[in-house]
Amino acid sequence: MTSYIILLGPPASGKGTQAGNLRDHLNLAHVASGDLFRYNLKNETALGLKAKAYMDRGELVPDDITIAMVLDRLSREDCAEGALLDGFPRTLPQAEALDVALANKGVQINRVLNIHVPEDALIERVTGRRLCRTCGEPYHIKFKPPQKEGICDLDGGELYQRDDDTEATMRNRLKVYWDQTSPLIEYYRAKGVLVDIDGAQSIDHVTEDLKAAVADL
Ligand code: ADP
Ligand code: ADP
Repeated sequence: MTSYIILLGPPASGKGTQAGNLRDHLNLAHVASGDLFRYNLKNETALGLKAKAYMDRGELVPDDITIAMVLDRLSREDCAEGALLDGFPRTLPQAEALDVALANKGVQINRVLNIHVPEDALIERVTGRRLCRTCGEPYHIKFKPPQKEGICDLDGGELYQRDDDTEATMRNRLKVYWDQTSPLIEYYRAKGVLVDIDGAQSIDHVTEDLKAAVADL
């Protein structure tokens, strides 16, 4: 059986952190739309330059651009048996386009892991977030510090702070989440694939709950 799993949750709820913990356990490709945009931005592709203005404002990149980018990624060989989707879909048109693309392959979304975290905790998480410039692994100055300050534990890459990880941009990203992304919770609940996860626990406890929620796949 294939496993197409979505990590759903507001910005900084821990999707990237948990994808890192789950992907090896599940042996699935990690497909993160934000990482794909940042990769394009770093390489100054036409797609990256188009996305930049939206990302800087904390707005969503238009659906047509985002859907084409993610479906292209999902058509690669390493996603043939499934994928761990992180940050996509974020709108109803994206969810519908994903359903159509998977149905064309004779597969479907198997589970949606809906991570809940209170808003004050999200602000603290986002402002303390640091990422590896090379591999994108997330850290936190207080909650998940690297062994050596400023250096990635995994590959020794330099840690940096995202331009959009400010409190002001985060307020807009949270508004965008509630307006445009949260309707997906009911969309997937109605399909019977949604599991609610308490994301306010420690990183390891959240990982345990997520593993339990996909143990039958
Ligand atoms: P997302 O991918 O949903 O935006 P991240 O995985 O990048 O979120 O996490 C956001 C920030 O919060 C990071 O700095 C990460 O280290 C930290 N973090 C993730 N999960 C937890 C947790 N359970 N408790 C405390 N901090 C966390
Ligand atoms: P977060 O850590 O806040 O969850 P991401 O790294 O997933 O952030 O996304 C960063 C930015 O990239 C978003 O604010 C948005 O501009 C853009 N982006 C990422 N995924 C999508 C998507 N599915 N649809 C539209 N825009 C997206």
